[in-house]
Amino acid sequence: MSRTPRALAAVTLGVAASLAVTAAPAGAAERFTPGAPGAGDPYFPDMGNGGYDVAHYDIGLKYDPATKGIQAVTRVTARATQNLSRFDLDFLGPLKISSLKVDGRAASYTRTGAQELVITPRKGIRDRRTFTVTVAYSGVPQRIDDDTLGTSGWVATNDGAVMLNQPFGAAAVYPVNDHPTDKATYTYTLSAPSGLTTLANGDLRAKRTAGGWTTTRWDVRNPMASELAMIAIGRYDVVSGRTKAGIPNLTATDQAMAVKAEDAKKFHEQTAEVTDFQNALYGRYPFTSTGGIVVKAGVGYALETQGRPVYDLGRRPGAIPSTSLLAHELGHQWFGDSVSPKKWADIWLNEGFATYSEWMYSAAHGGKSVQALFDETYATPASDDLWTGKVADPGRDHIFDGLVYDRGAMAVHVLRTKIGEKAFLRLLKAWPAAYRYGNASTGDFVRFAEKLSGKDLDAWAKAWLYSEGKPAL
Ligand SMILES: [Zn+2]
Repeated sequence: MSRTPRALAAVTLGVAASLAVTAAPAGAAERFTPGAPGAGDPYFPDMGNGGYDVAHYDIGLKYDPATKGIQAVTRVTARATQNLSRFDLDFLGPLKISSLKVDGRAASYTRTGAQELVITPRKGIRDRRTFTVTVAYSGVPQRIDDDTLGTSGWVATNDGAVMLNQPFGAAAVYPVNDHPTDKATYTYTLSAPSGLTTLANGDLRAKRTAGGWTTTRWDVRNPMASELAMIAIGRYDVVSGRTKAGIPNLTATDQAMAVKAEDAKKFHEQTAEVTDFQNALYGRYPFTSTGGIVVKAGVGYALETQGRPVYDLGRRPGAIPSTSLLAHELGHQWFGDSVSPKKWADIWLNEGFATYSEWMYSAAHGGKSVQALFDETYATPASDDLWTGKVADPGRDHIFDGLVYDRGAMAVHVLRTKIGEKAFLRLLKAWPAAYRYGNASTGDFVRFAEKLSGKDLDAWAKAWLYSEGKPAL
């Protein structure tokens, strides 16, 4: 994410108090127990769940401009990782469920706490078995305005809506195991009155119009974290093509932004150019397509939604993203999207490298050198808030703060000087390759960099990642 400061409305998510009660076992000798109501992330204890691993989300969603609401059916295909008597999905807000089935049979459910949809199938689900949960629901999904983390969820625009999920938000639109550690493939089938464009991550596979409604189908074949899933509906101008390296590229601009055709073309070409530049620097681009969407949503940030970042430039009519912003969000495709954090505390692995991606792009394109950008940032006085908190554990309310971005990027640069240019350039490719489509922690990164470089990096990690305050050079 990359954000500009703004005032935030005050709605805070509560804490779910879901009590684990063992349900009746299905077999005589076997014990079936409830899946955990959280994924164990200390910053967001309600996010995610235990007891299963999602393989695929199939989201069918019809948007009605008259109500700004949706009618949807989401089918979740998952594999049990224990004998399950019951399990939770994350699902929050006012959406009303009309039907819920497990493996095609009606199952009982309750909604408790902040975001738990607690599902009890008729029979326990055996460990390692694949099962489906099909939920039909409707209503106007919630827009979440968090005191410190900003807007996410279903964000209404003048002529449609955008789904933005970082760090939470997915659960406002579809039932989900909402934690970056449970990645899955996706299919979206999106319907809206003809004249509106429907967009999502992945690749457009089908488009048909009937009875005044247009339906598009999008496939995401690479594993994706729910925080990176995206839907955009509204009046958009779309440009499709390929980068010089041959990567499919789809960009779109919200007509409410009144972007000139030549600027929309420039946005498309610069997206291709930055993707190819990073493709050479960070190794093979991890996804089936690149692109980006300029929206007018009033959220005040850009977000690295997988394969197709969203740029809200709503306050600047006609604007397209700067190459620096493109370098940030597209850099995330390797750092944050393909390699995702194990816990939200590890988010500097996303933002530090995305900010450093801006620096490297600048240095290679006639802008300031990386060293000059480091020096400018490092010159921030030791008394400044920037030096408060720990980069590798900033705290729940600070995951989008300057310390994560700027100190994260400085940490990367100091690492570069410690391990040398040759090892650093190898690291930029080897790290995203080693953890492609997976999750990594700060500890994983430090160990990986030590092994690759043969250098002891304990002092570096202590000073730049694990301690508060301004490190000496
Ligand atoms: Zn970012």
